[in-house]
Amino acid sequence: MPLRASDLLTLTREGLYCPLGDFHVDPTWPVPRALITHGHADHARAGHGRVLATPETLRIMAVRYGAEFCGTRQEAALGDPIRIGEVTVRFAPAGHVLGSAQIAIEREGVRVVVSGDYKRAPDPTCLPFEVVPCDVFITEATFGLPVFRHPDTRGEVRRLLESVRLFPERAHIVGAYALGKAQRVMALLREEGWDRPIHLHGAMEKLTELYKQEGVPLGDTPKVVAAERKDLHGAIVLCPPSAIQDLWSRKFPDPVTCFASGWMRVRARARQKGVELPLVISDHSDWPDLCRTIRETGAGEVWVTHGQEDALVHWCGTQGIRAKPLHLLGYGDDGEAEPAPEAGPGPDNGAGPEEAAA
Ligand SMILES: [Zn+2]
Ligand SMILES: [Zn+2]
Repeated sequence: MPLRASDLLTLTREGLYCPLGDFHVDPTWPVPRALITHGHADHARAGHGRVLATPETLRIMAVRYGAEFCGTRQEAALGDPIRIGEVTVRFAPAGHVLGSAQIAIEREGVRVVVSGDYKRAPDPTCLPFEVVPCDVFITEATFGLPVFRHPDTRGEVRRLLESVRLFPERAHIVGAYALGKAQRVMALLREEGWDRPIHLHGAMEKLTELYKQEGVPLGDTPKVVAAERKDLHGAIVLCPPSAIQDLWSRKFPDPVTCFASGWMRVRARARQKGVELPLVISDHSDWPDLCRTIRETGAGEVWVTHGQEDALVHWCGTQGIRAKPLHLLGYGDDGEAEPAPEAGPGPDNGAGPEEAAA
């Protein structure tokens, strides 16, 4: 009997599961063996028995959860085939955050690719997305509506720098998620010629240090000292999104509140969060890139894990591609998934407050 995709991957209470290899991918509950696509808290959780991930993702998990975040760990080198049970797996870059990878699962010429979160836009802090031809492509759909078209990030960063020039007495407080988005904004600022210090909220410090150790040049990024906030005229300060409305940010000189997120495309959302300068910078694919990627993989079947699943499933149908929504619960708290307006810190997401969907 020929192998079916469902022999390679199926859905269990814990999430995506490979019966022939006896492992889960990005499980939302502790499992004996987990393969992890990237370090965001909705994909990488603590408490698994064995974890296979890229070296960068393993180090990110150790920073967030402590060295004992799992029983045993194994590094996956990008591109190398790894045999697990009756399948072969291979990790390929996803272009989402440092160390992020898609995971291809293969047997007898049938290949399923779990892409995790991904983007196609350039990002100086991680390797670019690589198209892996496959039979079944598993995709997110955070921005899976035709209205979502992300602008060029350089233009967004230039708007920030322009505002700093216009208001040299004010501090610019930029809300950005602590893993990936914050470091990408720093790297983009450097590319646009900002050579002064980029000041960091304490919650940004450890992961930024890790990025630097991994060879991402981010320049001088001092931690904000509480007593010195009032003196930071003309400074650029990065903090968790929740901190832009905090008392913490009000101590800076006449702060301009900014927020770097794909959701800043939606004006009502920026207003609701009290954001003065919205910056549309996303680590997820926009609608054209979701569609382009599905086409480029050549997949005859698509499963949509989370986000705006229905529109993407419908689009696949118009292209003659079979598709189904998985309605996976527990994904999407890496800061860009649709948060409920009143949402506080997510239940048991293992993350610090910087990742609460506030
Ligand atoms: Zn993510
Ligand atoms: Zn995610």
